[in-house]
Amino acid sequence: MSIFLEGGFGVEVSRREVIKLGAFGAAAISAGIATDVAEAANKKEPRAVLKISSQEGIIPGKDLPEKLAKMEKWDFDGIEVGGRGLENRVPEIQAALKNSKIKLSAICAGFQGALMSDQESERKKCVESMKVILTAAGELGSTGLIFVPAFNGQTKLNHIEGRKILLDQLPELCEFAQKAGTRMLLEPLNRHETWYVRQLADAAAICRDANHPAACVMGDFYHMYIEEPSDMGAFISAGKYIHHVHLASIKRNLPGQDERNYTDGFKGLKMIGYQDFCSFECGCIGDREVEIPKSVKFLREQWKKA
Ligand code: MG
Repeated sequence: MSIFLEGGFGVEVSRREVIKLGAFGAAAISAGIATDVAEAANKKEPRAVLKISSQEGIIPGKDLPEKLAKMEKWDFDGIEVGGRGLENRVPEIQAALKNSKIKLSAICAGFQGALMSDQESERKKCVESMKVILTAAGELGSTGLIFVPAFNGQTKLNHIEGRKILLDQLPELCEFAQKAGTRMLLEPLNRHETWYVRQLADAAAICRDANHPAACVMGDFYHMYIEEPSDMGAFISAGKYIHHVHLASIKRNLPGQDERNYTDGFKGLKMIGYQDFCSFECGCIGDREVEIPKSVKFLREQWKKA
């Protein structure tokens, strides 16, 4: 038989179980489930925001202050910078951000070696150089350091060995990141760039197993178009682990420069109450001074439609 609960939820209970439990027991089951459902309904995600960022190199300008001034005028919220040599740029970036509304979003890679290399020396090089970048990232208030465990050709390990090696190292790096005030952001790529972690849900499962609050993921609309059957499903599946997004069209140009639609993905981000940045990582067809602000407007419209 089926016990019907408030809100249309039902639970299958056998006739024998009802007889054994009696009316009181069945009511207790109903009450317990009803409490769980009510708690889930009360736990509302915060209202999602679209904070648009761009990688530094995409924005025209002779220096960082000039780029930031343009970004403010073009309705950006954040800037993503490269990790290579970041420790030497901290004062320069801090000074430029102080005079701007633009915030620092994520730090894009820039470390040496590969975390999932089959060579211990490469893994060690990777961890040590990541720590230097993570310290600078924390000082700059960054969302996190974007990393790919291994690009194609960077490891001879198989899936099982690779996952173990990754999970052996992630907790220490995540602890370091958290103490520095930032996160580790695992980026899934398409199969032409990495055979490992290609879907957001897979990346999220690695973070779940790393079991550290600084073990997080990001999604890139360019790779997602190749690897994910649903943008919305991917973002919902990775849920709380998502702390950065890359924006690019099907051909990896500015959003709006081909038929790529962002509303399905934006719906997913809205459903998880996304609070972090969506950042350009793409080329541009035509004049950047004209095309970049056009793309920002296009994305704000897509967000409204989602
Ligand atoms: Mg990317």
